[in-house]
Amino acid sequence: MAGIDRIAREELEAIAARGLLRALDPLRERRGAEVELRGPEGRAERLINFSSNDYLGLAGDPRVSQSLAEGASRFGAGAGASRLVCGDFAPHHELEEELARFEDAEAALLFNSGYAANTGLVGALAGPEDVVLSDALNHASLIDGCRLSRARVAPFAHGDLDGVQTELRKASDARRRVVVTDTVFSMDGDLAPLEGLARLCDEHGALLVADEAHATGIFGPGGRGLCAQLGLSARVDARVGTLSKAAGVLGAWVAGPRALRDLLVNKARPLIFSTALPPALAHAALRAVRILRGPEGDERRAHLWRLVERFSAGLRALGVAAEARSPIFPVVLGAPERALASAAALRVRGFLIKPIRPPTVPAGTSRLRVALTAAHDEGQIDALLGALREVL
Ligand code: PMP
Repeated sequence: MAGIDRIAREELEAIAARGLLRALDPLRERRGAEVELRGPEGRAERLINFSSNDYLGLAGDPRVSQSLAEGASRFGAGAGASRLVCGDFAPHHELEEELARFEDAEAALLFNSGYAANTGLVGALAGPEDVVLSDALNHASLIDGCRLSRARVAPFAHGDLDGVQTELRKASDARRRVVVTDTVFSMDGDLAPLEGLARLCDEHGALLVADEAHATGIFGPGGRGLCAQLGLSARVDARVGTLSKAAGVLGAWVAGPRALRDLLVNKARPLIFSTALPPALAHAALRAVRILRGPEGDERRAHLWRLVERFSAGLRALGVAAEARSPIFPVVLGAPERALASAAALRVRGFLIKPIRPPTVPAGTSRLRVALTAAHDEGQIDALLGALREVL
């Protein structure tokens, strides 16, 4: 016996000693922005959730749930195999066609998650002869895609266009140069300099890959994302959108030329070697995307952006630097223990805001990450500001 229990305990002790131990904490119920957890001594604890990426409040929408049930009754609970074997169902294609129209792209390809889409896309586009330029604050799934590709990775300082230019020049003899970036950064809520990145990629003949995970459904006409808002969709070679955040379901897509879709079907390892998304889920996601891109989506976005304005003004009044750039607000506290203590103090006051610590964020920047959604109302925003005043 290798003593796996002992090995695990030793590693856990080392993680705990750095204040970085994490544990699961299941929600027992969800109603709008309110969730129920099991609190101290097993008592039910009802909290207002400010940690969710369900930006439009669609995850609990009865119409989407009904489509899920409808899909399950027609297609069953699971796909049964990967898409290339026999897990490819009509709802996957219906959804992909809808997403391609939504993106104004030739084609879209579904993945089981944003994580799978990013690792699959970067892993398929770049190889050992290539250089991938990656923003220092990119999501772990893009970073892991770089690792999977075995390309040389050239990280650049967050949002630093000069750094990108330098690295593009340095890599001039690579077979391909691929610049990858989140469009809305998940832990800071700030925006990538997409216009500048598109210009540099044009000038240097590099590819640009943009992960719209936190922009889908929130930015741009009909929620098409930040590239669409800035009129840059045609200049971004591949765009990743998620179904797991504003669309409230699960999965993601890559939008781009038809040949890119065909290449990914042949090369993207998370697509080839993993069971397909349940067709019922694709059916439900289609319903969610139709709500998201329609007039009701517009109303939800308008409400969300009003909350973003209100909360950022409130934070500034508390002396916290805040801008109304996205629904994500970092309150950076530094040491992990401070983030843990503040989250605990907010929980006692009725708010669920999970502390975010390394390795999710760089060392010394542990934080509360407040995420607003259209399921919140003004009263909840003001109540949170009141609690933050006490806790900070
Ligand atoms: N990209 C970014 C920027 C993300 O924040 C996340 C999830 N937190 C993902 C991709 C992964 O998406 P998913 O949760 O659908 O795997």
